[in-house]
Amino acid sequence: MHVKEMFKDRMVFSFEVFPPKKTSSIDVIYNTLDELRDLRPDFISVTFSAGGSSNNALACDIASKIKNNGVVPMIHLPCINYTREEITGTLTEIKDRGIENILALRGDINPDIPPKKEFKYASDLIEFIRSQGNFDIAGACYPECHPDASSLEVDILNLKRKVEAGADHLISQLFFDNSSFYEFLWKARAAGINVPIEAGIMPVVNKNQIERMVTTCGASLPKKFVKIMQKFEHSPEALRDAGIAYAVNQIVDLAASGVDGIHLYTMNNAYVARKISEAVSGIIRT
Ligand code: FAD
Repeated sequence: MHVKEMFKDRMVFSFEVFPPKKTSSIDVIYNTLDELRDLRPDFISVTFSAGGSSNNALACDIASKIKNNGVVPMIHLPCINYTREEITGTLTEIKDRGIENILALRGDINPDIPPKKEFKYASDLIEFIRSQGNFDIAGACYPECHPDASSLEVDILNLKRKVEAGADHLISQLFFDNSSFYEFLWKARAAGINVPIEAGIMPVVNKNQIERMVTTCGASLPKKFVKIMQKFEHSPEALRDAGIAYAVNQIVDLAASGVDGIHLYTMNNAYVARKISEAVSGIIRT
């Protein structure tokens, strides 16, 4: 099923997982997928390395497992470090596995890997995918501006090109301050971007994540969020519960504001996904 059809009659609720490191047993992620299936998400997306990692074969296997579990899969596809021939090969494999939904991405530019010249932006990839078959195509968007863009206004103009190239819907980068998402949404709609936009929510439930948030993530950290993280960072259970509660609060507010969908960055943590799904089940399914 094409994900774009889902937005017609409901607020979409989706999950994201990533292929585990090679050292980890495949059974762990497969068990996680079984647990996530029981939470009845509308779809589950699988990340894909921009750097040509051999884990990408695993990403395709994971997407197939999601499909075999009776859940709609979406596979991420970054293009910056791949040739047209490599992308064509991956698209053929995706098609052969019966996967219809793709999140088309540029990928982060890695200073150690000279980018291939064939796809410069996600919009180039989207145009190419359109020519290769009947795929549902999602694109990424950045409520607090993509780090390479000079301003949110410029980024939104580029986002519009992505939609004009054929993106059916968008999934946002994570954010912790709903007001930044609302402001972005308002500007995107004013710029004529009319496709559904899912809000990306990441529950922050352990100390490593906090450190990563502070150093690498461009998302602004509201005072309330910082206070919670500082208070509970040394108490794993309290931090986990506080992170879950924070994400639930964000989702309730977004749902009340009529958001098109929620995309939960699960970090392969089925316990956290379950707690959040249970807390918002009445809201998601109304
Ligand atoms: P683009 O849409 O190409 O935009 C990149 C930059 O170029 C932006 O600053 C934009 O304003 C600018 N731009 C775009 N088009 C033009 C144009 N025509 N002219 C001039 N400037 C332009 N990365 C992975 O490697 N694997 C993943 O699985 C993955 N999953 C992700 C999932 C989500 C939901 C999100 C939000 C991001 C994900 N990423 C992933 C990260 C993503 O690859 C990076 O953020 C990357 O830097 C940008 O990708 P993009 O597709 O948004 O790029």
